[in-house]
Amino acid sequence: SVKEHGRNSFAFFEPPMDERAMARHQMEVSLRGALERGEFVLYYQAQVDLATCRTAGAEALIRWHHPSEGLLQPKAFIGFAEECGIIKSIDRWVLREACRQAKSWQDAGYALQSISVNISAQEFESVDFLQTVFTTLNQTGLSPHALELELTEGTLMRDSVSTIEKLKALRAAGVRIAIDDFGTGYSSLGYLRRFPIDTLKIDQTFVADIRPGADDVLVDTVISIGMRLHHHVVAEGIETAEQLRFLQEHACDTGQGFHLAVPLPASEFGQRLALARAGEIA
Ligand code: C2E
Ligand code: MG
Ligand code: MG
Ligand code: MG
Repeated sequence: SVKEHGRNSFAFFEPPMDERAMARHQMEVSLRGALERGEFVLYYQAQVDLATCRTAGAEALIRWHHPSEGLLQPKAFIGFAEECGIIKSIDRWVLREACRQAKSWQDAGYALQSISVNISAQEFESVDFLQTVFTTLNQTGLSPHALELELTEGTLMRDSVSTIEKLKALRAAGVRIAIDDFGTGYSSLGYLRRFPIDTLKIDQTFVADIRPGADDVLVDTVISIGMRLHHHVVAEGIETAEQLRFLQEHACDTGQGFHLAVPLPASEFGQRLALARAGEIA
């Protein structure tokens, strides 16, 4: 009928609505608002010295206290933040907050040697990244030796010449560099020699292979690579006593995982450090 045709024509001539673009714009607005309203929080996961079982450091992990959705994990928003570029502002906020918090724990007399902060490729590539790091350290008073920056293989491989210069400048100031999710990138092992780094963080998928009946040759190999290159080796995602024992027996330096400690809000992590100082826990 004419009526039906009219309706179809109407629908047909409706300007096309790019739902994806709209969703992205809305996400950008809400992420920017979240930064302004202070809805992001940091959780801290202990990095445990596997020889002494003492807490050596902590990794800062972002969460979003969303007004209606509750506590959101990074996988719910980091991808969007990277797409719209807000990740740079988020990473700068995280860096500042993590340094401030670490300094205040150190001032309270807690034994926290280092704080590890995840840095996105976009933020690492910013022309003012070095300035951001040094200004943040100055303003928070945290020693550069207490800061470790976690970069992925993908970030390092994007532009190796300027990457090496930046890594050198950071390390000359005392800041340590870790390769996060090591072994999951597409890069060749050759880059390990070229890039001045301190720490290899073995991805949790390798640690997951430490279980009865599974092949643990890869995790064994990755630990050996780190040790042969004189890097500090951290294993991520330790979930069982068996995994912990295997890593200790293979002389892995440091461990992180739910079996050792789950990521905690700052107040609870502070209590953990206080108990450790009192000698009540490791
Ligand atoms: P990541 O840096 O590799 O962090 C380790 C992730 O493993 C964290 O997830 C941590 O909660 C989780 N984890 C720790 N122990 C275990 C375990 O025993 N088993 C399992 N299955 N998982 C464990 P989370 O906090 O969800 O963070 C996910 C990723 O989001 C991080 O991976 C990092 O790539 C990114 N991210 C987190 N915070 C930030 C940030 O401030 N800035 C940026 N750019 N990225 C961040
Ligand atoms: Mg990390
Ligand atoms: Mg990782
Ligand atoms: Mg990861």
